[in-house]
Amino acid sequence: MRIAIIGAGIVGVTTAYELAADGHEVTVFERRGSVASETSFANAGVVAPGYVTPWAAPGMPRKVLGQLFARHAAVRVNGGALATHAGWLWRWWRACRPAVYTPNRSAMQRLARFSQHRLAELTHAMQLDYEQRPGYLVLLRGVKELVQARPGLALLAEMGVKFELVDADQARRLEPGLNPDTELRAAIHLPSDGVGNCRQFAHLMKNEAQRLGADFRFDTDVLQLAPGARPAVRTAQGEMAFDAVVVAAGVEASALLRGVGVRLPLLPVYGYSVTAPLRAQDGLNAEAPQAGLMDERYKVAITRLGQRVRVAGSAEIGGRLDRFNEAAVATLYRVLDDWFPGAAAVAQAQRWKGARPMLPDGPPVLGASGATGVWLNLGHGSSGWALSCGSARVLAEQIGGRAPPIDLSGLGIERLR
Ligand SMILES: Cc1cc2nc3c(=O)[nH]c(=O)nc-3n(C[C@H](O)[C@H](O)[C@H](O)COP(=O)(O)OP(=O)(O)OC[C@H]3O[C@@H](n4cnc5c(N)ncnc54)[C@H](O)[C@@H]3O)c2cc1C
Repeated sequence: MRIAIIGAGIVGVTTAYELAADGHEVTVFERRGSVASETSFANAGVVAPGYVTPWAAPGMPRKVLGQLFARHAAVRVNGGALATHAGWLWRWWRACRPAVYTPNRSAMQRLARFSQHRLAELTHAMQLDYEQRPGYLVLLRGVKELVQARPGLALLAEMGVKFELVDADQARRLEPGLNPDTELRAAIHLPSDGVGNCRQFAHLMKNEAQRLGADFRFDTDVLQLAPGARPAVRTAQGEMAFDAVVVAAGVEASALLRGVGVRLPLLPVYGYSVTAPLRAQDGLNAEAPQAGLMDERYKVAITRLGQRVRVAGSAEIGGRLDRFNEAAVATLYRVLDDWFPGAAAVAQAQRWKGARPMLPDGPPVLGASGATGVWLNLGHGSSGWALSCGSARVLAEQIGGRAPPIDLSGLGIERLR
């Protein structure tokens, strides 16, 4: 089949690879000059399936409200956003009910586990060389965080995730650079999870897809779609017809899809990262993070990427991609300084803001869109890197008309209608 993919973020690139590997003739349209130039550019890089869960969860509305005016809040709602996004927030609130949350969580975790497996398989099969580190440590600063984490531990055990609840001394042995002066009650260690550089991986996968014949058209904005037996893509250069079109356009997808009568409640939920070189460049730097960490109190991730450290977090509703909230960035520096003071050359840090393509209930949307010939792989929210390889493989199986590798219930568009 001749297949068009719109968007070359991590989701579009992995989809291009899988479809090309299945023998399809693939054309990727990307408005930017390179792959992974938007939300896939500088995310935290965490791949931890046990922690891939919906943000629409029981207790979340109360937590969000309780934090609205806190200085180091994990969630920030910009003025006016409550009214502008009232429809989305209502659906999110409704999805926080346990009866909705539980199946959504299962759907996401099924996909996340399959995705982690597919990521490892691809990395091994093609000997892909990108920055990655095994190990993920969830830091529980105080008794409150420990108590709040306990129900989650039962779930991890239920899912068969390999983890260990460790005390502060054990945690410091795993991450010797952790500041001894910062209170640490306990930590959850997940040795089979870890971190990887999403953007580097996307570049490697683009090369592999090209090797299989995929054609990447950069600086090419898709202006319109036309569904049908031969769906078409319109760009400034003209119209091209295909046998199928896959929309993997991240936060921009809803605008394109509206034109073909498909309505998706996608909201950009902004987040920030700061990336800085480590001070000692010998790779053995004892003060530096060794792998991935999550500060549960502030919901801030600290990850080691080669000879750099990245701190990422914050969930901002409303506002603009090009406007930085200095308080959110300050929280990232504060968390880094709490745990690894002096490890990074922060004067050389690069700041980044990205927009998570978030659906109100949590799982992404995979599969047919309802408009003839138009397929969807989008809405991966805060876990697009962790879910990308699995989502791409699933979609390739669906387009090929084969049985999916996992149970896909809860991952289709019908749940959002
Ligand atoms: C601060 C932060 C931390 C994060 N940390 C993690 C993490 O630790 N682990 C994890 O798994 N995920 C994480 N994420 C989420 C992850 O980054 C996203 O889910 C993922 O990058 C989404 O990928 P995507 O390909 O769907 O979107 P994008 O990467 O945004 O790609 C979409 C592409 O489509 C292109 N496009 C859009 N419209 C058009 C058009 N009309 N024509 C042509 N091209 C178009 C865009 O230019 C873009 O390149 C984080 C996100 C943020 C913001």
